[in-house]
Amino acid sequence: MPEIKFEKVNKIYENGYHAVHDLDLTIKNNEFVILVGPSGCGKSTTLRMLAGLESISGGELKIDNKVVNALKPKDRGIAMVFQSYALYPTMTVYDNLAFGLRLAGVDEDTIEKRVEEISKILGIKDYLPRKPKALSGGQQQRVALGRALIRKANVFLMDEPLSNLDALQRVNMRSEIRRIHNITGATTVYVTHDQIEAMTMADRIVVMKDGYIQQIGTPKELYFHPTNLFVAGFIGDPQMNFIKGHVTGDTFVASKDGAKIKLPGYDHALLSRVAKHKEVIMGFRPESCGLGKSKNKGILNLTMIVEVSEMLGDTLNIYGKIGENEVVFRTNPFTKYEVNKPLDFYVPYDRILFFDTKSENIIE
Ligand code: ADP
Repeated sequence: MPEIKFEKVNKIYENGYHAVHDLDLTIKNNEFVILVGPSGCGKSTTLRMLAGLESISGGELKIDNKVVNALKPKDRGIAMVFQSYALYPTMTVYDNLAFGLRLAGVDEDTIEKRVEEISKILGIKDYLPRKPKALSGGQQQRVALGRALIRKANVFLMDEPLSNLDALQRVNMRSEIRRIHNITGATTVYVTHDQIEAMTMADRIVVMKDGYIQQIGTPKELYFHPTNLFVAGFIGDPQMNFIKGHVTGDTFVASKDGAKIKLPGYDHALLSRVAKHKEVIMGFRPESCGLGKSKNKGILNLTMIVEVSEMLGDTLNIYGKIGENEVVFRTNPFTKYEVNKPLDFYVPYDRILFFDTKSENIIE
């Protein structure tokens, strides 16, 4: 399986729109990489340049150390799964799977073996004689995956392959695609706008915004060590809490209302670096908070006035305010609280991050 390398790759569309800027990315052999970001950030453009469906305006794309900028899609050893499954409605599942191989002139015995092998991996053996319309959305998507897999391509590209499925099917297919990847080991590049899909499936995630890569890392790296405000806010649900302010000495002063949050014993060197920035944003995740007051060292005790809550069954999100600053705290569903009353919670120091307001970069 090959390595894929984007070196300063740019895409400028004919109307002059610069959709992808100086993209540098190496995708390793056997890796499952997910491009994620809001709509319009350049994910599909990047994937389509890799597939050869879109020309490259600048920079080099290498597959196995060979520049492939000018190579036709069919000569790149790539199979692609799109958002819409586009199965042939009049053909059976078997014929849908066999179609590409027949076109390529593969003999029927080999085709039968490959269909058998792939339909077993995908759990669609019983549906082979059926027509697509007699299958559920999830089953149809499996057949679409099967059509890509059966070609034994070196690289699989998937563009929002789960977006037409309902919530339960999506969850099932997430682990299904991961399982198939573990069996085939094929280098996979997958595009989604859904951060949960990215977090649950990827070996590494590439977060994009406005045509620029924001950060590349494992799900854990992105979650615990976001390099900027955008990544910190994009990964995680509910979103990370952000409070604007500045630091003097060992005190954080909120911009909105002047509320003082004392941080005695916080990493002194880091805090003095933070203090050099005119305005900063303090960030902590709703789920990194604990309930009540803590007497332990290295803990920030906070009190919010409760406004609303969201009961999710396994967890409870409590929304409220510290002074005029909005916060959310994720806790266990049996937590007792009252609307318009104070609720104590705490955040360990090592879960508090600071970002510069202007550059939006993390302060380390
Ligand atoms: P994503 O997949 O992240 O939603 P796309 O890669 O599809 O984003 O698009 C990136 C940007 O490029 C968007 O602003 C989109 O409007 C623009 N774009 C996409 N295709 C074209 C095109 N053929 N001509 C001009 N602009 C385009």
